Amino acid sequence: MTPAQRCVIGVDLGGTKTAAGIVDDTGRLHASEFRPTPAAAGAAAILATAVGLVASLLAQARTADMLPVAVGIGSAGVIDAAAGSVVSATDSLTGWAGTPLAAHLAQHSGLPAYAVNDVHAHNLGEHWVGASAGADSSLLVAVGTGVGGSLILGGAPHLGARAVAGHVGHLASPAAYDDGGRPLPCSCGRAGHLEAIASGPSIANLYRRLAGRDPGTAREVAARAAAGEPPAVRALALGAAAAGQAVGGLANVLDPSIVVIGGGMAAAGELWWLPFRSALQAELMDPLAGLPVVPAALGSSAAVVGAAKIALDRMRIPETTSA
Ligand SMILES: [Zn+2]
Repeated sequence: MTPAQRCVIGVDLGGTKTAAGIVDDTGRLHASEFRPTPAAAGAAAILATAVGLVASLLAQARTADMLPVAVGIGSAGVIDAAAGSVVSATDSLTGWAGTPLAAHLAQHSGLPAYAVNDVHAHNLGEHWVGASAGADSSLLVAVGTGVGGSLILGGAPHLGARAVAGHVGHLASPAAYDDGGRPLPCSCGRAGHLEAIASGPSIANLYRRLAGRDPGTAREVAARAAAGEPPAVRALALGAAAAGQAVGGLANVLDPSIVVIGGGMAAAGELWWLPFRSALQAELMDPLAGLPVVPAALGSSAAVVGAAKIALDRMRIPETTSA
């Protein structure tokens, strides 16, 4: 009899949906499921949704004669990866700060569980089997509902001394000002940050100011831009250029082997990518002219796959036991 194939249940817990999948130890995703995150219902409800998904996928893995060895979770918020707990979170996940995420999932699954911030999980997934596979170092910037980032050095994400490293959205941006020169308010409570001009909701706000009507969502702005509507083209371009300028500056600081761009805005097509690339190139120092800047390759499964990877990596550390 051949031994059962090892697998990890990877979980991607975001403000809108929670996804989970069976990931084998080569990075292949075998099955996945998702449910809406009950984001306003508090930590107990959010955890119960994750526990339910993990239980469903554990059952599927065992039916398929696979051997689940751990659970890995990438979660929105500032995550203390060593403790597996939530340090802080925005209002998009009510009551999420202080949640002992990994310990709770370990208790309910009977397996060791590990947690990390979802953008680091996204970057790990791309670095394992996606757009930056094999690169020495990789900077991932995700531009979507928020703006997040992650730097992989030596095969692991740089988490920082207080688990905050990677918050690219809260870099000051010279573009994040209104017509009167006032800094635009940011989701972190401060103002003038990149997220206040480049995120999807910020691009929708920009369109509202330029066109004088409510676009609904950034997706709608992108659709109007694709149809040639000038205020939509301009809103998308201003957000994209702000992101490009910030990523160019970060590349000057960090000199990563490759830059990977993910998130919903990066999926908006050339009307986003052209102003993004133009602003980025204008910022880069000469030796960085050939820096590869590529779209993410794994789509919505990247953080599920990367969350599984963090579990596999952490399990190799003998003193780490969560059970
Ligand atoms: Zn901010």
